[in-house]
Amino acid sequence: MWVLYRAHRSTQAMETIGPHVRTIPIHCAPCKAPCPTCGKLGRRKATHNRRVRTIAYKQVVFLDVTYGEYRARCACRTTFRSTPPGIEPRALYDNKVRRAVLDRILDDGMSAERVIASMRRDFLLDLSDGFVYDCLDREVKRLDMAGHRRWVLDRFSGTLCVDELHLGRNTLLLATDPLQDLPVAFALVASNDQDHMRRFLKNLRTWGLVPEVVITDGSNLYPTILAELWPDARHQLCVFHVLKELHKYVLDAVRRLRRGLSRRGNRGRKRRPGRRPKARTRRRGLTNKEKSAFVFKHRWLIVRRRDKLSDQERADLATMLGYLPELEVLLAVPELAKAIGALAAEKFTKMIAFLKSPACRRVRTNNHVERVNRKLRYEEKARYKWRKRRTTVRFLVLLLDRYWWQERAVRNRWPEEPQPVVRNRSSPKTGAANRVA
Ligand SMILES: [Zn+2]
Repeated sequence: MWVLYRAHRSTQAMETIGPHVRTIPIHCAPCKAPCPTCGKLGRRKATHNRRVRTIAYKQVVFLDVTYGEYRARCACRTTFRSTPPGIEPRALYDNKVRRAVLDRILDDGMSAERVIASMRRDFLLDLSDGFVYDCLDREVKRLDMAGHRRWVLDRFSGTLCVDELHLGRNTLLLATDPLQDLPVAFALVASNDQDHMRRFLKNLRTWGLVPEVVITDGSNLYPTILAELWPDARHQLCVFHVLKELHKYVLDAVRRLRRGLSRRGNRGRKRRPGRRPKARTRRRGLTNKEKSAFVFKHRWLIVRRRDKLSDQERADLATMLGYLPELEVLLAVPELAKAIGALAAEKFTKMIAFLKSPACRRVRTNNHVERVNRKLRYEEKARYKWRKRRTTVRFLVLLLDRYWWQERAVRNRWPEEPQPVVRNRSSPKTGAANRVA
């Protein structure tokens, strides 16, 4: 017992002797105070004191709170206590501490351990794991997701991006509005199948979301569900995904031709034993193998748009065609037939669905939603490594809440344009063009 007491004394001493300890008195005990539920005034029957820890950089600061106990004159309760703003009843830390913890987790992407270390360094405050997770839990309870949902619905542009992403054992289904640049909803599900996708999208419909265009990747999860839920909506495949598929086919062809060239090697040429004189090698130019390597290095030129080529790239392409004239007839090779096949009629109409709707002309890819996905995945990896479903959902909800509040603040400050904003951050090219202009 005595040993314990000594240990306790010594830790206290360490805390109090080192840094300067400040105490700020806070008085919050008027004669009459309102009932926390109904607001009817009650009379004070006693005053109490307690110490609440707050934060200041490299300082130990306590609030010495004087609060009152009141006799209620309503039916809600018999007594209640007053509490100053920014301090929860019975809390050991004020809300500044909680806010600092949440900022570190949600904005700075720190893990619980790093938050604790950072709070100790900056504010000389020792927090427990439990307190950090409690901050997250409380924040989730405080959230007004229905409010966000109404706000997002009010601004919905009519174009919806849907994507799925694997997070550890779970799959994140994410829907965003690319024109408004807002996440719309997410669901964390156990498996990526049609049932889950249907339930997710059905929820969106229940909220009253009626998209005109739905953009997805080429996955076969979507067509039947979309036809069932929103028969009038146009289904658009992400142009980016379709182009990626096409490029793959064409590059397969280049690879095939190049391998042929490489295999031809030194065919038909006699090699004399011994060291080759340098002059002769130079005169003969590159071997087929070297040419093949050149073609391999520049293979992307084949799928690049001709009008985007620089002079050097144009010259390289000409050299490639000199080495491998077959590349010129790439349009006649079997791989390209396959590529055209990939653009089957049905798929193609989906790919150009955006052309029919002027408002959506600019958004042809679901890059936007994938970018949000990547951010979430990165953020989450840093924190929980996708351990538990519950913590993952909690984190995602908080992150989205924060994002929505930021957007709401920004859009309140600058009243929104009447038409859907086309300035979308999903396209870096337009951004660069704006900056230049
Ligand atoms: Zn009351």
